[in-house]
Amino acid sequence: MRKHELRLIAGILLVLGSTWIGLFHQRIVAAAPERNQANEVFLPIIPIRSSPPMNDLQVIHLGLFQSVQSQSNDVTLIAHKPAILRVYAQVSDSIGPAPASRIRIDARRNGTPIGSLTSDSHVISSHPTSEDMASTINVDLPVEWLSGSLELTATIDGADVIPEFSEANNSIRATFQFQDVAPLEIVIIPITYNDTVTGKTYAEAAHDPISGWLLSAFPVNAVKVTIHAPLQFTGNLRQGDDWGRLLGEITTLWGNEAGPDSSQIYFGLVPNRAADSSGWFNGGVSGLGWIGQRVSVGLDTGPDTGPAAAHEIGHNLGRRHAPCGNPSGVDPHFPYPNASIGVFGVDTSDETLLDPILTHDMMSYCGPEWVSDYTYEGLFQDQYLRGGKSGHRGQGTYITTLVDGPQADDLLAKSENFGQAAAGRYRVQVLNDKGAILASYPAELYVAEEMGTTVTMLGAFIPAEAGTLTGGNLRFLDGDQVVLEKSVKAWPELK
Ligand SMILES: [Zn+2]
Repeated sequence: MRKHELRLIAGILLVLGSTWIGLFHQRIVAAAPERNQANEVFLPIIPIRSSPPMNDLQVIHLGLFQSVQSQSNDVTLIAHKPAILRVYAQVSDSIGPAPASRIRIDARRNGTPIGSLTSDSHVISSHPTSEDMASTINVDLPVEWLSGSLELTATIDGADVIPEFSEANNSIRATFQFQDVAPLEIVIIPITYNDTVTGKTYAEAAHDPISGWLLSAFPVNAVKVTIHAPLQFTGNLRQGDDWGRLLGEITTLWGNEAGPDSSQIYFGLVPNRAADSSGWFNGGVSGLGWIGQRVSVGLDTGPDTGPAAAHEIGHNLGRRHAPCGNPSGVDPHFPYPNASIGVFGVDTSDETLLDPILTHDMMSYCGPEWVSDYTYEGLFQDQYLRGGKSGHRGQGTYITTLVDGPQADDLLAKSENFGQAAAGRYRVQVLNDKGAILASYPAELYVAEEMGTTVTMLGAFIPAEAGTLTGGNLRFLDGDQVVLEKSVKAWPELK
Protein backbone atom coordinates (compact mmCIF):
# COMPACT_ATOMS: atom_id res chain seq x y z
CA MET A 1 0.00 0.00 0.00
CA ARG A 2 2.75 2.40 0.96
CA LYS A 3 4.69 1.77 -2.21
CA HIS A 4 1.60 2.62 -4.23
CA GLU A 5 1.19 5.95 -2.45
CA LEU A 6 4.81 6.86 -3.18
CA ARG A 7 4.33 6.07 -6.86
CA LEU A 8 1.20 8.23 -6.96
CA ILE A 9 3.01 11.20 -5.44
CA ALA A 10 5.90 10.80 -7.85
CA GLY A 11 3.41 10.67 -10.76
CA ILE A 12 1.67 13.87 -9.64
CA LEU A 13 5.01 15.70 -9.34
CA LEU A 14 5.92 14.59 -12.87
CA VAL A 15 2.61 15.87 -14.30
CA LEU A 16 2.94 19.17 -12.44
CA GLY A 17 6.50 19.53 -13.74
CA SER A 18 5.41 19.02 -17.34
CA THR A 19 2.60 21.55 -16.95
CA TRP A 20 5.02 24.07 -15.58
CA ILE A 21 7.39 23.61 -18.54
CA GLY A 22 4.41 24.05 -20.90
CA LEU A 23 3.36 27.28 -19.20
CA PHE A 24 6.94 28.57 -19.29
CA HIS A 25 7.10 28.06 -23.05
CA GLN A 26 3.82 29.85 -23.54
CA ARG A 27 5.08 32.79 -21.57
CA ILE A 28 8.15 33.08 -23.74
CA VAL A 29 6.03 33.17 -26.89
CA ALA A 30 3.73 35.76 -25.35
CA ALA A 31 6.68 37.93 -24.28
CA ALA A 32 8.05 38.27 -27.82
CA PRO A 33 5.07 38.97 -30.12
CA GLU A 34 7.10 40.93 -32.64
CA ARG A 35 9.20 37.95 -33.63
CA ASN A 36 8.78 36.20 -36.92
CA GLN A 37 6.22 33.34 -36.59
CA ALA A 38 8.51 30.94 -38.40
CA ASN A 39 11.10 31.27 -35.69
CA GLU A 40 8.76 30.89 -32.76
CA VAL A 41 8.26 27.11 -32.87
CA PHE A 42 10.14 25.72 -29.95
CA LEU A 43 7.61 23.21 -28.57
CA PRO A 44 9.35 20.22 -27.01
CA ILE A 45 9.12 18.07 -30.19
CA ILE A 46 11.71 15.39 -30.77
CA PRO A 47 11.79 15.02 -34.58
CA ILE A 48 12.05 11.51 -36.05
CA ARG A 49 14.61 11.72 -38.79
CA SER A 50 13.53 9.54 -41.75
CA SER A 51 16.33 7.42 -43.13
CA PRO A 52 17.22 8.29 -46.71
CA PRO A 53 15.63 6.13 -49.44
CA MET A 54 17.85 3.23 -50.40
CA ASN A 55 15.74 1.56 -53.07
CA ASP A 56 12.53 1.57 -55.09
CA LEU A 57 9.64 -0.85 -54.75
CA GLN A 58 7.40 -1.45 -57.73
CA VAL A 59 4.57 -3.73 -58.83
CA ILE A 60 5.31 -4.55 -62.45
CA HIS A 61 2.80 -7.28 -63.42
CA LEU A 62 -0.14 -9.38 -62.27
CA GLY A 63 -0.80 -12.96 -63.39
CA LEU A 64 -4.11 -14.59 -62.49
CA PHE A 65 -3.91 -18.39 -62.51
CA GLN A 66 -6.66 -20.97 -62.24
CA SER A 67 -4.93 -23.79 -64.19
CA VAL A 68 -2.84 -22.12 -66.89
CA GLN A 69 -2.23 -18.53 -67.85
CA SER A 70 -0.38 -16.63 -70.54
CA GLN A 71 1.82 -13.61 -69.84
CA SER A 72 -0.99 -11.36 -71.13
CA ASN A 73 -3.70 -13.03 -68.98
CA ASP A 74 -5.76 -13.93 -72.03
CA VAL A 75 -6.65 -17.51 -71.03
CA THR A 76 -10.36 -17.78 -70.18
CA LEU A 77 -11.13 -17.34 -66.47
CA ILE A 78 -13.89 -19.40 -64.89
CA ALA A 79 -16.32 -17.89 -62.38
CA HIS A 80 -15.86 -19.19 -58.82
CA LYS A 81 -12.94 -21.45 -59.68
CA PRO A 82 -10.07 -21.08 -57.14
CA ALA A 83 -7.51 -18.57 -58.37
CA ILE A 84 -4.02 -17.51 -57.35
CA LEU A 85 -2.87 -14.00 -58.14
CA ARG A 86 0.87 -13.85 -58.79
CA VAL A 87 2.04 -10.34 -57.96
CA TYR A 88 5.31 -9.46 -59.67
CA ALA A 89 6.74 -7.02 -57.12
CA GLN A 90 10.28 -5.83 -57.65
CA VAL A 91 12.90 -3.91 -55.74
CA SER A 92 15.40 -1.94 -57.77
CA ASP A 93 18.47 0.17 -56.97
CA SER A 94 18.64 -1.68 -53.68
CA ILE A 95 21.58 -1.13 -51.37
CA GLY A 96 21.95 -3.76 -48.68
CA PRO A 97 19.62 -6.67 -47.97
CA ALA A 98 16.38 -6.97 -49.98
CA PRO A 99 13.50 -5.43 -48.04
CA ALA A 100 10.39 -7.37 -47.00
CA SER A 101 6.98 -5.93 -47.60
CA ARG A 102 3.29 -6.77 -47.87
CA ILE A 103 0.96 -6.47 -50.85
CA ARG A 104 -2.52 -5.10 -50.46
CA ILE A 105 -5.12 -6.22 -52.98
CA ASP A 106 -8.21 -4.08 -53.44
CA ALA A 107 -11.09 -5.57 -55.42
CA ARG A 108 -13.81 -3.61 -57.19
CA ARG A 109 -16.74 -4.53 -59.35
CA ASN A 110 -18.39 -1.88 -61.53
CA GLY A 111 -16.47 0.73 -59.57
CA THR A 112 -17.73 -0.47 -56.18
CA PRO A 113 -15.25 -1.87 -53.64
CA ILE A 114 -16.05 -5.50 -52.81
CA GLY A 115 -13.15 -6.28 -50.51
CA SER A 116 -9.47 -6.12 -49.87
CA LEU A 117 -6.79 -8.29 -48.36
CA THR A 118 -3.15 -7.99 -47.39
CA SER A 119 -0.50 -10.62 -48.00
CA ASP A 120 2.00 -11.84 -45.46
CA SER A 121 5.31 -10.05 -45.40
CA HIS A 122 7.52 -11.29 -48.24
CA VAL A 123 11.11 -10.56 -49.21
CA ILE A 124 10.87 -8.63 -52.44
CA SER A 125 12.78 -10.02 -55.38
CA SER A 126 15.02 -7.86 -57.55
CA HIS A 127 14.02 -9.97 -60.56
CA PRO A 128 10.61 -11.69 -60.31
CA THR A 129 10.12 -14.27 -63.08
CA SER A 130 7.39 -16.59 -64.33
CA GLU A 131 9.53 -19.66 -63.79
CA ASP A 132 10.20 -18.99 -60.11
CA MET A 133 7.08 -19.25 -57.98
CA ALA A 134 8.97 -17.95 -54.93
CA SER A 135 9.99 -14.77 -56.75
CA THR A 136 6.37 -13.57 -56.94
CA ILE A 137 3.97 -12.90 -54.10
CA ASN A 138 1.16 -15.40 -54.52
CA VAL A 139 -2.22 -14.62 -53.10
CA ASP A 140 -5.27 -16.88 -52.95
CA LEU A 141 -8.22 -14.72 -53.93
CA PRO A 142 -11.58 -15.15 -52.19
CA VAL A 143 -13.74 -17.29 -54.48
CA GLU A 144 -16.69 -14.89 -54.01
CA TRP A 145 -14.71 -12.18 -55.83
CA LEU A 146 -14.34 -14.33 -58.92
CA SER A 147 -17.23 -13.55 -61.22
CA GLY A 148 -18.29 -11.03 -63.84
CA SER A 149 -15.83 -8.19 -64.23
CA LEU A 150 -13.26 -7.87 -61.46
CA GLU A 151 -10.89 -4.94 -61.07
CA LEU A 152 -7.86 -5.63 -58.90
CA THR A 153 -5.37 -3.10 -57.60
CA ALA A 154 -2.19 -4.44 -56.05
CA THR A 155 -0.18 -2.05 -53.89
CA ILE A 156 3.19 -2.68 -52.34
CA ASP A 157 4.11 -0.97 -49.08
CA GLY A 158 0.79 0.89 -48.93
CA ALA A 159 1.60 1.89 -45.35
CA ASP A 160 4.72 3.65 -46.64
CA VAL A 161 7.03 1.94 -44.18
CA ILE A 162 9.96 1.68 -46.56
CA PRO A 163 11.49 4.93 -47.89
CA GLU A 164 11.79 4.88 -51.66
CA PHE A 165 13.08 6.95 -54.52
CA SER A 166 9.59 6.89 -56.03
CA GLU A 167 6.24 6.20 -54.37
CA ALA A 168 4.38 6.66 -57.66
CA ASN A 169 4.95 3.16 -59.03
CA ASN A 170 3.77 1.12 -56.05
CA SER A 171 0.37 0.19 -57.50
CA ILE A 172 -0.85 -1.64 -60.57
CA ARG A 173 -4.41 -2.20 -61.68
CA ALA A 174 -5.92 -4.84 -63.95
CA THR A 175 -9.42 -5.96 -64.90
CA PHE A 176 -10.37 -9.61 -65.33
CA GLN A 177 -13.49 -11.12 -66.90
CA PHE A 178 -14.90 -14.42 -65.64
CA GLN A 179 -17.07 -16.85 -67.60
CA ASP A 180 -19.88 -18.92 -66.15
CA VAL A 181 -19.70 -22.58 -67.10
CA ALA A 182 -21.61 -25.62 -65.86
CA PRO A 183 -19.87 -28.03 -63.46
CA LEU A 184 -18.46 -31.24 -64.91
CA GLU A 185 -20.83 -34.08 -64.05
CA ILE A 186 -19.21 -37.49 -63.88
CA VAL A 187 -20.78 -40.86 -63.22
CA ILE A 188 -18.09 -43.32 -62.16
CA ILE A 189 -18.96 -46.90 -63.00
CA PRO A 190 -16.84 -49.32 -60.95
CA ILE A 191 -16.03 -52.26 -63.20
CA THR A 192 -15.92 -55.73 -61.75
CA TYR A 193 -13.44 -57.32 -64.13
CA ASN A 194 -13.47 -61.07 -64.67
CA ASP A 195 -10.16 -61.69 -66.41
CA THR A 196 -10.26 -64.67 -68.75
CA VAL A 197 -6.45 -65.04 -68.68
CA THR A 198 -5.82 -65.33 -64.94
CA GLY A 199 -9.34 -66.53 -64.12
CA LYS A 200 -9.41 -63.95 -61.31
CA THR A 201 -11.90 -61.24 -60.54
CA TYR A 202 -10.55 -57.73 -60.02
CA ALA A 203 -12.66 -55.28 -58.06
CA GLU A 204 -12.22 -52.27 -55.79
CA ALA A 205 -14.56 -50.67 -53.29
CA ALA A 206 -16.39 -47.75 -54.87
CA HIS A 207 -14.23 -44.64 -54.77
CA ASP A 208 -13.40 -41.49 -56.71
CA PRO A 209 -9.71 -41.16 -57.64
CA ILE A 210 -10.23 -38.69 -60.50
CA SER A 211 -12.24 -35.59 -59.59
CA GLY A 212 -9.42 -33.86 -57.68
CA TRP A 213 -7.13 -33.75 -60.71
CA LEU A 214 -10.00 -32.80 -63.02
CA LEU A 215 -10.98 -29.90 -60.77
CA SER A 216 -7.42 -28.56 -60.81
CA ALA A 217 -6.82 -28.86 -64.55
CA PHE A 218 -10.23 -28.43 -66.20
CA PRO A 219 -11.99 -25.11 -66.84
CA VAL A 220 -14.79 -25.75 -64.33
CA ASN A 221 -15.40 -24.66 -60.75
CA ALA A 222 -16.88 -27.98 -59.63
CA VAL A 223 -16.78 -31.66 -60.52
CA LYS A 224 -19.92 -33.46 -59.43
CA VAL A 225 -19.34 -37.18 -59.01
CA THR A 226 -21.93 -39.91 -58.72
CA ILE A 227 -20.90 -43.52 -58.16
CA HIS A 228 -22.93 -45.94 -60.26
CA ALA A 229 -23.70 -49.55 -59.39
CA PRO A 230 -20.83 -51.84 -60.47
CA LEU A 231 -20.79 -53.27 -63.99
CA GLN A 232 -19.56 -56.80 -64.60
CA PHE A 233 -17.22 -57.26 -67.53
CA THR A 234 -15.64 -60.50 -68.67
CA GLY A 235 -12.79 -60.49 -71.16
CA ASN A 236 -9.09 -59.89 -71.68
CA LEU A 237 -8.17 -56.23 -71.33
CA ARG A 238 -4.66 -56.90 -72.61
CA GLN A 239 -6.40 -56.62 -75.99
CA GLY A 240 -7.44 -53.24 -77.31
CA ASP A 241 -10.60 -54.70 -78.85
CA ASP A 242 -11.87 -55.76 -75.45
CA TRP A 243 -11.40 -52.20 -74.19
CA GLY A 244 -13.61 -51.22 -77.15
CA ARG A 245 -16.22 -53.80 -76.14
CA LEU A 246 -16.21 -52.53 -72.54
CA LEU A 247 -16.49 -48.93 -73.77
CA GLY A 248 -19.45 -50.01 -75.93
CA GLU A 249 -21.23 -51.56 -72.94
CA ILE A 250 -20.81 -48.39 -70.90
CA THR A 251 -22.04 -46.34 -73.86
CA THR A 252 -25.20 -48.42 -74.00
CA LEU A 253 -25.73 -47.68 -70.30
CA TRP A 254 -25.13 -43.96 -70.92
CA GLY A 255 -27.52 -43.91 -73.87
CA ASN A 256 -30.26 -45.58 -71.85
CA GLU A 257 -29.73 -43.83 -68.52
CA ALA A 258 -28.41 -40.36 -69.33
CA GLY A 259 -29.64 -40.22 -72.92
CA PRO A 260 -27.99 -38.93 -76.10
CA ASP A 261 -26.76 -35.33 -75.83
CA SER A 262 -26.53 -35.57 -72.05
CA SER A 263 -23.60 -33.61 -70.66
CA GLN A 264 -23.04 -36.32 -68.05
CA ILE A 265 -19.80 -38.21 -68.50
CA TYR A 266 -19.96 -41.93 -67.89
CA PHE A 267 -16.51 -43.11 -66.81
CA GLY A 268 -15.76 -46.82 -66.29
CA LEU A 269 -13.08 -47.36 -63.64
CA VAL A 270 -11.17 -50.59 -64.29
CA PRO A 271 -9.51 -52.10 -61.21
CA ASN A 272 -6.07 -53.66 -61.15
CA ARG A 273 -6.39 -55.51 -57.86
CA ALA A 274 -7.68 -58.99 -57.11
CA ALA A 275 -8.68 -60.28 -53.66
CA ASP A 276 -5.08 -61.54 -53.22
CA SER A 277 -3.82 -57.99 -54.07
CA SER A 278 -2.29 -59.15 -57.36
CA GLY A 279 -2.77 -57.05 -60.50
CA TRP A 280 -3.25 -58.01 -64.13
CA PHE A 281 -1.91 -54.93 -65.98
CA ASN A 282 1.49 -55.17 -67.66
CA GLY A 283 1.39 -52.22 -70.06
CA GLY A 284 -0.60 -51.59 -73.21
CA VAL A 285 -3.96 -49.86 -73.54
CA SER A 286 -4.97 -48.45 -70.16
CA GLY A 287 -7.91 -46.30 -71.17
CA LEU A 288 -10.20 -45.38 -74.03
CA GLY A 289 -12.55 -42.48 -74.63
CA TRP A 290 -14.79 -41.47 -77.49
CA ILE A 291 -13.76 -38.31 -79.28
CA GLY A 292 -16.64 -35.90 -78.79
CA GLN A 293 -19.01 -38.28 -76.98
CA ARG A 294 -19.08 -38.34 -73.20
CA VAL A 295 -18.23 -41.92 -72.37
CA SER A 296 -14.79 -43.23 -71.42
CA VAL A 297 -13.02 -45.90 -69.47
CA GLY A 298 -9.68 -45.97 -67.67
CA LEU A 299 -7.45 -48.05 -65.46
CA ASP A 300 -7.26 -47.35 -61.73
CA THR A 301 -3.49 -47.25 -61.40
CA GLY A 302 -2.99 -45.19 -58.27
CA PRO A 303 -1.44 -41.73 -58.51
CA ASP A 304 -1.72 -41.61 -62.31
CA THR A 305 -5.43 -42.41 -62.38
CA GLY A 306 -6.43 -38.72 -62.31
CA PRO A 307 -4.35 -37.49 -65.28
CA ALA A 308 -5.07 -40.71 -67.23
CA ALA A 309 -8.81 -40.18 -66.75
CA ALA A 310 -8.38 -36.51 -67.71
CA HIS A 311 -6.83 -37.67 -71.02
CA GLU A 312 -9.84 -39.87 -71.86
CA ILE A 313 -12.36 -37.29 -70.67
CA GLY A 314 -10.43 -34.73 -72.74
CA HIS A 315 -11.25 -36.90 -75.79
CA ASN A 316 -14.90 -36.89 -74.67
CA LEU A 317 -14.80 -33.09 -74.76
CA GLY A 318 -13.54 -33.19 -78.34
CA ARG A 319 -9.77 -33.09 -77.85
CA ARG A 320 -7.47 -35.08 -80.15
CA HIS A 321 -3.95 -36.19 -79.29
CA ALA A 322 -1.08 -33.79 -78.65
CA PRO A 323 2.19 -34.67 -80.39
CA CYS A 324 4.46 -36.44 -77.88
CA GLY A 325 4.98 -40.16 -77.29
CA ASN A 326 3.86 -41.02 -80.82
CA PRO A 327 0.09 -41.27 -80.47
CA SER A 328 -2.14 -41.75 -83.51
CA GLY A 329 -4.84 -39.22 -84.40
CA VAL A 330 -2.75 -36.16 -83.56
CA ASP A 331 -4.53 -32.82 -83.61
CA PRO A 332 -2.95 -30.95 -86.56
CA HIS A 333 -3.73 -27.63 -84.88
CA PHE A 334 -1.92 -28.36 -81.62
CA PRO A 335 0.38 -25.31 -81.39
CA TYR A 336 3.43 -26.44 -79.41
CA PRO A 337 6.24 -28.82 -80.36
CA ASN A 338 6.75 -31.89 -78.22
CA ALA A 339 3.25 -31.32 -76.74
CA SER A 340 4.52 -28.62 -74.39
CA ILE A 341 1.82 -26.94 -72.31
CA GLY A 342 3.06 -23.73 -73.97
CA VAL A 343 2.53 -21.35 -71.06
CA PHE A 344 3.02 -21.61 -67.31
CA GLY A 345 0.48 -23.53 -65.26
CA VAL A 346 -0.30 -23.46 -61.57
CA ASP A 347 -2.04 -26.21 -59.69
CA THR A 348 -3.92 -24.04 -57.22
CA SER A 349 -4.61 -27.00 -54.92
CA ASP A 350 -0.97 -26.98 -53.77
CA GLU A 351 0.57 -23.96 -55.56
CA THR A 352 2.70 -26.18 -57.79
CA LEU A 353 4.14 -24.33 -60.78
CA LEU A 354 4.12 -26.21 -64.10
CA ASP A 355 6.91 -25.14 -66.42
CA PRO A 356 6.19 -25.41 -70.17
CA ILE A 357 9.76 -26.56 -70.78
CA LEU A 358 9.26 -29.59 -68.55
CA THR A 359 5.54 -30.30 -68.74
CA HIS A 360 3.53 -31.97 -71.49
CA ASP A 361 -0.08 -31.55 -72.45
CA MET A 362 -2.40 -34.15 -70.93
CA MET A 363 -3.61 -35.14 -74.42
CA SER A 364 -0.13 -36.51 -75.27
CA TYR A 365 1.52 -39.75 -74.12
CA CYS A 366 4.34 -37.88 -72.33
CA GLY A 367 4.64 -36.85 -68.72
CA PRO A 368 4.70 -35.11 -66.38
CA GLU A 369 1.42 -33.78 -67.69
CA TRP A 370 -0.74 -30.75 -67.20
CA VAL A 371 -3.10 -28.81 -69.41
CA SER A 372 -1.91 -26.41 -72.13
CA ASP A 373 -3.75 -23.14 -72.74
CA TYR A 374 -4.78 -24.61 -76.12
CA THR A 375 -6.38 -27.71 -74.60
CA TYR A 376 -7.89 -25.66 -71.77
CA GLU A 377 -9.65 -23.36 -74.23
CA GLY A 378 -10.90 -26.36 -76.23
CA LEU A 379 -12.29 -27.98 -73.09
CA PHE A 380 -13.91 -24.68 -72.14
CA GLN A 381 -15.60 -24.29 -75.52
CA ASP A 382 -17.05 -27.79 -75.32
CA GLN A 383 -18.27 -27.48 -71.75
CA TYR A 384 -19.61 -23.97 -72.42
CA LEU A 385 -21.73 -25.25 -75.31
CA ARG A 386 -22.66 -28.70 -74.02
CA GLY A 387 -22.40 -28.53 -70.20
CA GLY A 388 -25.45 -28.70 -67.96
CA LYS A 389 -27.67 -30.42 -70.54
CA SER A 390 -30.03 -33.29 -69.97
CA GLY A 391 -30.14 -36.08 -72.49
CA HIS A 392 -33.03 -36.99 -74.74
CA ARG A 393 -34.62 -39.65 -72.67
CA GLY A 394 -37.93 -41.30 -73.06
CA GLN A 395 -39.47 -44.65 -73.68
CA GLY A 396 -37.25 -46.66 -75.92
CA THR A 397 -33.89 -48.34 -76.20
CA TYR A 398 -30.42 -47.09 -76.99
CA ILE A 399 -28.68 -49.50 -79.32
CA THR A 400 -25.00 -49.60 -80.18
CA THR A 401 -23.06 -51.67 -82.66
CA LEU A 402 -19.29 -51.89 -82.98
CA VAL A 403 -18.12 -51.50 -86.56
CA ASP A 404 -14.96 -53.22 -87.74
CA GLY A 405 -13.12 -54.25 -90.89
CA PRO A 406 -13.49 -52.32 -94.16
CA GLN A 407 -16.77 -50.74 -93.00
CA ALA A 408 -14.97 -49.08 -90.11
CA ASP A 409 -12.11 -47.97 -92.39
CA ASP A 410 -14.61 -46.42 -94.82
CA LEU A 411 -16.41 -44.64 -92.02
CA LEU A 412 -13.18 -43.24 -90.61
CA ALA A 413 -11.87 -42.20 -94.03
CA LYS A 414 -15.02 -40.22 -94.78
CA SER A 415 -15.65 -38.70 -91.38
CA GLU A 416 -14.27 -35.26 -90.79
CA ASN A 417 -15.86 -34.73 -87.41
CA PHE A 418 -16.76 -37.00 -84.59
CA GLY A 419 -19.34 -36.58 -81.92
CA GLN A 420 -21.51 -33.51 -81.56
CA ALA A 421 -19.85 -31.69 -84.44
CA ALA A 422 -21.31 -34.29 -86.79
CA ALA A 423 -24.86 -34.09 -85.39
CA GLY A 424 -27.48 -34.81 -88.03
CA ARG A 425 -25.07 -36.52 -90.39
CA TYR A 426 -25.73 -40.13 -89.32
CA ARG A 427 -29.11 -41.86 -89.25
CA VAL A 428 -30.59 -45.25 -88.65
CA GLN A 429 -33.55 -46.61 -90.60
CA VAL A 430 -35.86 -49.29 -89.27
CA LEU A 431 -36.88 -51.75 -91.99
CA ASN A 432 -39.42 -54.54 -91.79
CA ASP A 433 -38.69 -58.05 -93.06
CA LYS A 434 -39.88 -57.04 -96.54
CA GLY A 435 -37.34 -54.21 -96.73
CA ALA A 436 -39.83 -51.34 -96.32
CA ILE A 437 -38.55 -48.34 -94.31
CA LEU A 438 -40.76 -47.96 -91.23
CA ALA A 439 -38.96 -45.08 -89.49
CA SER A 440 -35.73 -43.12 -89.39
CA TYR A 441 -33.90 -41.73 -86.34
CA PRO A 442 -30.68 -39.78 -85.65
CA ALA A 443 -27.59 -41.86 -85.03
CA GLU A 444 -24.13 -41.11 -83.63
CA LEU A 445 -20.71 -42.18 -84.78
CA TYR A 446 -18.29 -43.03 -82.00
CA VAL A 447 -14.53 -43.19 -82.56
CA ALA A 448 -11.77 -43.84 -80.03
CA GLU A 449 -8.09 -44.44 -80.63
CA GLU A 450 -5.39 -45.28 -78.17
CA MET A 451 -2.04 -47.11 -78.38
CA GLY A 452 -2.64 -48.53 -81.87
CA THR A 453 -6.23 -49.54 -81.19
CA THR A 454 -9.02 -47.80 -83.09
CA VAL A 455 -12.61 -48.54 -82.14
CA THR A 456 -15.58 -47.42 -84.21
CA MET A 457 -19.18 -47.69 -83.13
CA LEU A 458 -22.62 -46.50 -84.18
CA GLY A 459 -25.41 -45.81 -81.74
CA ALA A 460 -29.01 -44.66 -81.94
CA PHE A 461 -32.01 -44.23 -79.72
CA ILE A 462 -34.99 -46.22 -80.99
CA PRO A 463 -38.14 -44.85 -79.36
CA ALA A 464 -40.79 -47.24 -78.12
CA GLU A 465 -43.19 -45.80 -80.71
CA ALA A 466 -41.21 -47.77 -83.30
CA GLY A 467 -42.83 -50.86 -81.79
CA THR A 468 -41.03 -54.10 -81.23
CA LEU A 469 -39.29 -55.26 -84.33
CA THR A 470 -39.86 -58.99 -84.80
CA GLY A 471 -37.64 -59.66 -87.72
CA GLY A 472 -36.25 -56.85 -89.81
CA ASN A 473 -33.20 -54.70 -90.34
CA LEU A 474 -31.49 -51.67 -88.92
CA ARG A 475 -29.70 -49.70 -91.61
CA PHE A 476 -27.12 -47.08 -90.60
CA LEU A 477 -26.43 -44.26 -93.02
CA ASP A 478 -23.74 -41.60 -93.37
CA GLY A 479 -25.69 -38.98 -95.31
CA ASP A 480 -27.17 -40.97 -98.20
CA GLN A 481 -24.63 -43.78 -98.08
CA VAL A 482 -25.34 -47.02 -96.29
CA VAL A 483 -22.63 -47.82 -93.74
CA LEU A 484 -23.96 -51.13 -92.55
CA GLU A 485 -27.18 -53.07 -92.26
CA LYS A 486 -27.91 -55.62 -89.59
CA SER A 487 -30.79 -57.95 -89.15
CA VAL A 488 -32.38 -57.92 -85.74
CA LYS A 489 -35.03 -59.92 -83.99
CA ALA A 490 -35.46 -57.57 -81.01
CA TRP A 491 -34.07 -54.16 -80.01
CA PRO A 492 -31.56 -55.03 -77.30
CA GLU A 493 -29.92 -57.52 -79.62
CA LEU A 494 -27.42 -55.16 -81.23
CA LYS A 495 -25.55 -54.11 -78.15
ZN1 LIG B 1 -5.86 -40.72 -76.18
